[in-house]
Amino acid sequence: MPRFTQKDMDELNSSITTAEAALEWASENLHPRVAKASSFGAEDAVLIDIMRKINPEFRFFTLDTGRLPRETYDVIDRLRKKYGVAVEVLFPDAAEVEEMVNAKGINLFYESVENRKLCCRVRKVRPINRMLATLDGWITGLRHDQTKLRHAAKMFQLDAAHGGIVKINPIINWTWEDVQNYIKSHDVVYNELLDRGYLSIGCEPCTRPVKPGQSLREGRWWWESGSDLECGIHVDPV
Ligand code: SF4
Repeated sequence: MPRFTQKDMDELNSSITTAEAALEWASENLHPRVAKASSFGAEDAVLIDIMRKINPEFRFFTLDTGRLPRETYDVIDRLRKKYGVAVEVLFPDAAEVEEMVNAKGINLFYESVENRKLCCRVRKVRPINRMLATLDGWITGLRHDQTKLRHAAKMFQLDAAHGGIVKINPIINWTWEDVQNYIKSHDVVYNELLDRGYLSIGCEPCTRPVKPGQSLREGRWWWESGSDLECGIHVDPV
């Protein structure tokens, strides 16, 4: 049964305005049944740093889709060395991946949006759904200016797609400049792909650097036209 109501979320959104305060609330009210989802992009680097200062026992998890860039695996090791963080790694169901790849090809995602969303569903959405079913809340690095679908997201919201648990977006109001400034002014562990123009980081075959003037998400699934540039994890951002 969900522990919180929409009224609770409204009150939290009225009274809490900073990332630190949001994470302190999560630590006091949800830990250890709350965890941060991370793909080790810039926003994740910021949040991991803030969270470690608020509660060194905060939990972090990532999805190993089997198609991640080497640099992302390196971050997981560096976090373990710097903070002693044991990132919980979730894997897709091997039989589902085998069935999909044998039926549709190893690089099926380039063939159609439908195939790409199937791959994201098998490698990302289903594993994260299994994890979220064990939690009362999760923490994300969503920001308003990442995609159109995220414009209406709030700092605290009930996640109807995941059993009504609390979804906390502590830096929802931060700009890209805020994120960059935090990384520059704090000794954070971050993915070295950021220095090579990867402003949003996902699977290796589906992510590339963005050029000056492009939006942050244009390096994701760049061959698609008219797609929402979402993998399906944040299906209910409002
Ligand atoms: S980002 Fe690409 S490789 Fe990763 S799960 Fe989605 S379609 Fe598959």
